[in-house]
Amino acid sequence: MRIAFFGGTFDPPHRGHIAIARAAAERFSLDKVLFAPTGKQPLKSTAPGASYEDRLAMLQLAIAGESLFETSTIDAPRPDGTPNYTVDTLSRLNHELSIESGAERKIFCIVGADSFLDLRQWRQPELLLELAEWLVVSRPGFALEDLSPLKLSPLQHTHVHLLRGIAVDVSATHLREALRNGQNVDPDLAPGVGDYIRQHHLYTSH
Ligand code: ATP
Repeated sequence: MRIAFFGGTFDPPHRGHIAIARAAAERFSLDKVLFAPTGKQPLKSTAPGASYEDRLAMLQLAIAGESLFETSTIDAPRPDGTPNYTVDTLSRLNHELSIESGAERKIFCIVGADSFLDLRQWRQPELLLELAEWLVVSRPGFALEDLSPLKLSPLQHTHVHLLRGIAVDVSATHLREALRNGQNVDPDLAPGVGDYIRQHHLYTSH
């Protein structure tokens, strides 16, 4: 079983998320991709525009019909309000899956180039690189050519797999801004998400 964890704020989920998960699933013959919205992202200073429940509901709509994709609540908000650290999540996932499927499983972590280039700011980067195979997807504006600032050892490099040639120029930040300005951004949202946003009056300026 080849399972990928795909964490993010998904505020809102957009076609970039779906595109990179599809590309990773195809290129690395994944059996399952777990889309896990994060309760509290440690490196983001502002709170999400939509609640955890709304982000989870939008994700469920976004991946409807994709047989390899599932949502996961492994990164739900913590009762004490502390951030969700990926190192804790991957450790837990490793533990849970080793009970379920024994040694016959491999864990991957899907991440965009912008996030991976910040790896040194994440909690316990060395352990993170041991806990999963990292599938790093290109993103417009972020160069994957030079990973030297990350100071990866040769062994760590073997756990990092680059997916170049994916260039989806969409970000949730821009979508939230456009929605606040009343623009229709449906073509950049995963299907069903635009209707959900309108029905629940999300990302409005008032
Ligand atoms: P925001 O603009 O609010 O920071 P975002 O568009 O980056 O949001 P996130 O939910 O924070 O979306 O991203 C989750 C993961 O998906 C991250 O690893 C991010 O790098 C990756 N990702 C998001 N959009 C893209 C994209 N267009 N191309 C490649 N990777 C992406």
